[in-house]
Amino acid sequence: MPQQFSSIFRRYHWQDIEQAIESKTSADVERALCKQNLSPADFQALLSPAAEQYLETMAQKSRALTQQQFGHTMQLYAPLYLSNVCSNICSYCGFSINNKLRRKTLDEAEILAEAKALKRKGINNVLLVTGEAPKTVGVEYIERAIQILKVHFAQIHIEVQPLQGQEYGRLIASGMHGVSLYQETYHRASYREHHTKGNKTNMDARLNAPDQIGQQGVHKIGLGVLLGLANWRTDSLFCALHLRHLQKHYWRTRYAISFPRLRPCAGDYTIKHPVTDRQLVQLITAWRLFDNTLDLNLSTREQQDFRDAVCQLGITSMSAESSTQPGGYAENTQAALQQFEISDERSVEQVHSMLNIKGLEVIHKDWHWA
Ligand code: SF4
Repeated sequence: MPQQFSSIFRRYHWQDIEQAIESKTSADVERALCKQNLSPADFQALLSPAAEQYLETMAQKSRALTQQQFGHTMQLYAPLYLSNVCSNICSYCGFSINNKLRRKTLDEAEILAEAKALKRKGINNVLLVTGEAPKTVGVEYIERAIQILKVHFAQIHIEVQPLQGQEYGRLIASGMHGVSLYQETYHRASYREHHTKGNKTNMDARLNAPDQIGQQGVHKIGLGVLLGLANWRTDSLFCALHLRHLQKHYWRTRYAISFPRLRPCAGDYTIKHPVTDRQLVQLITAWRLFDNTLDLNLSTREQQDFRDAVCQLGITSMSAESSTQPGGYAENTQAALQQFEISDERSVEQVHSMLNIKGLEVIHKDWHWA
């Protein structure tokens, strides 16, 4: 059994990494830009303030590497929210148990109605999302949802509570392609501050959850930090260490990185570490230079203009016309059910044609079971 990531994580200290990133120089950045295989130290250089003046070079290189690896393609998907019931409190999330919100968990007929509505929009790749509520949306519920949906969609990924290893195996056997599980932040004090109730308070358990997924041989694992909770540069470096650990042990699996920037939601949350558009471009292109095999994903949290500007700079997967509330596609449900507000409200068709105009072909799957 491979060592789990939490024991590796303990060898590193947040402040040391933060200082190392801050102290990178132009020479470190230029050295990283000349390399083909980047180390975590090179990634630190690309994340550093010193790299800000190299943004244009990073963007050009990122674009070329992405085209080399993925061609002129973009995967399009939509989140399908199955339930907004959650037993946890996360300070930044509208589904937190302490928020007054009408709770809803879709039944089989409602799941099917959502599938049909998404198909009509031209979506063929879905991300199933639930809150963390094992009694309401445990593995049996998720398995049944996958069984219902797999005949309708080319690919199904999930973003749900951490499960046990064999439970992931069960979902893979049912037709699940991938799992997204974001650490949110690798900064212990911020993690404690923002996760105050429920299973998610156990930071080490969350650090080790991707190991459980990898051990089952899933096709794709999605990682990421919630941009805005702590220093994005340091958090992203820890995420890269996490990625390298998983790649070393579960090398048959593909990996994806997402860039969720905090958005307004129900509740009262102030973003303490805001990330600017320029910094987000630096982050996206730094990831591409660090690893040209990664899927890089950008959601409708971001505004239309920003998404249009960066879709050729490294991003390989985008959501479109997303609803973040259960039943949001088939019914005209109230916005009070939603997790957060989306920014890019264009239809799938509009996003599709924007991508075509930019010379990108929309794809709905990147892999097929043999
Ligand atoms: S982030 Fe996830 S676990 Fe936290 S309150 Fe929202 S749905 Fe629940």
